[in-house]
Amino acid sequence: MFKKILIANRGEIAVRIIRACRELGIRSVAVYSTADRKSLHAQIADEAVCIGPPATKDSYLNISAVIQAALNTGAEAIHPGFGFLSENADFARLCEKSGIVFIGPSYKSIEMLGDKAAAKETMADAGVPVIPGSKGAVKSIDEAKEIARRCGYPVLVKASAGGGGRGIRRVDSENELEAQIIMAQQEAKNFFGDDTVYIEKFLVNPHHVEIQIMADKQGNVIYLGERDCSMQRRNQKILEECPSPIVSPELRKRMGEAAVTSARQCGYYNAGTIEFLVDENRDFYFMEMNTRIQVEHPITEEVTGFDLVKAQIEVAYGKPLSVKQEDIQLRGHAIECRINAENPSQNFRPSPGTIDALYVPGGPGIRIDGAVYQGYTITPYYDSMISKLIVHASDRNEAIMKMRWALSEFIVSGVDTNIDFQLEIIKRPEFISGNYDNGFLTRYMESKK
Ligand code: ADP
Ligand code: ADP
Ligand code: MG
Repeated sequence: MFKKILIANRGEIAVRIIRACRELGIRSVAVYSTADRKSLHAQIADEAVCIGPPATKDSYLNISAVIQAALNTGAEAIHPGFGFLSENADFARLCEKSGIVFIGPSYKSIEMLGDKAAAKETMADAGVPVIPGSKGAVKSIDEAKEIARRCGYPVLVKASAGGGGRGIRRVDSENELEAQIIMAQQEAKNFFGDDTVYIEKFLVNPHHVEIQIMADKQGNVIYLGERDCSMQRRNQKILEECPSPIVSPELRKRMGEAAVTSARQCGYYNAGTIEFLVDENRDFYFMEMNTRIQVEHPITEEVTGFDLVKAQIEVAYGKPLSVKQEDIQLRGHAIECRINAENPSQNFRPSPGTIDALYVPGGPGIRIDGAVYQGYTITPYYDSMISKLIVHASDRNEAIMKMRWALSEFIVSGVDTNIDFQLEIIKRPEFISGNYDNGFLTRYMESKK
């Protein structure tokens, strides 16, 4: 096994990866910015290297600083976590060139799938149903008009390099199309450094259902059930559950097999997630593939009993998967709430500051993947997610009750959080019945105004 791994990330996912390293007997190296000197990941890793100032482009996105830190500390592999460099094909390629194992798929897979427009083309060619829209990127306004007319309005203009719910614009009629495309291109250029956009039919109130897959370098690919991420605000996930309340065993099998086909099609290895939208007829359409570990991976771990992060490291080392498809059983139900330092009554404005009191819930079936402690100061430079609360119980109703009481116990003072907002969602009859789609939260919040 590897003797030493560098973690090119921060926050709760860096802590999660350090824990996996410890269990595997691997030494961990954290990297941190000057704003993160006192952060948990920098403190609990076996070694920690400062890689630059607070701005992400100078630290966590600074490819040469990260690779130099790995070379200087003798780390044999780099785990990129999610966000930051995790889906950067150039970074993965440079790791390889420097003799460092990138814990993820090959840079070729990242290249192929990271471009969302091109990925859809690849999947369509593999016979996987995709959301109707442009075949690849949009090349001209006339072509865009033609495609949108064929799909029928509303349509979405999406950035090919987009992520994290950003770079998506809705267009309701042809006379808005040109202006929206131009704005989308500018935005995409600014945010993602790439102005490629594509067009997709806007599906009305679908469900976001994604399939977790895991593949080794020997060519074995398995799927580990689905996650329902339909509880969204501005195309960003807030709460996730596994299994999905709308997926039958038969649909799970079909979606799982489509996901495995997609992965095989691109010679994929390591962990990956294939995101689908499911419509009211329970037809599913490929939306995108995330070539990395995801924020909501713990709910899959709880329900399958399979440690995805440890498996990522083992597979990267070259070990074959320890389990087969028939070994994967879904047991019980898990829910995750993302806990953010933000103020829901001020349009979810981030709330940096010092945590002066912290009490986290506990008891059977409760898991916290967090990165904060009492006295910790949340800086304004990074994502506002400070913790994830995950519950696992024998069925959905029990999981909801567990989440409800766990959220009520959770105390974070000194900064604002969305804990009470999560509690409000958990108590909604639409959530309790399992009868909610991607549009639910937006409609609910409109109705409160
Ligand atoms: P997941 O897909 O794992 O549910 P998110 O979509 O919330 O997670 O993204 C995880 C993290 O990665 C977030 O911090 C998000 O802002 C960031 N992220 C994802 N894609 C991109 C991207 N293309 N560019 C910049 N940041 C991204
Ligand atoms: P990102 O790369 O930012 O994660 P996605 O393409 O995965 O972007 O889309 C994020 C969310 O936006 C989806 O979960 C869904 O709620 C919404 N969305 C994306 N495409 C469509 C579509 N064609 N129709 C309706 N909603 C969509
Ligand atoms: Mg997505």
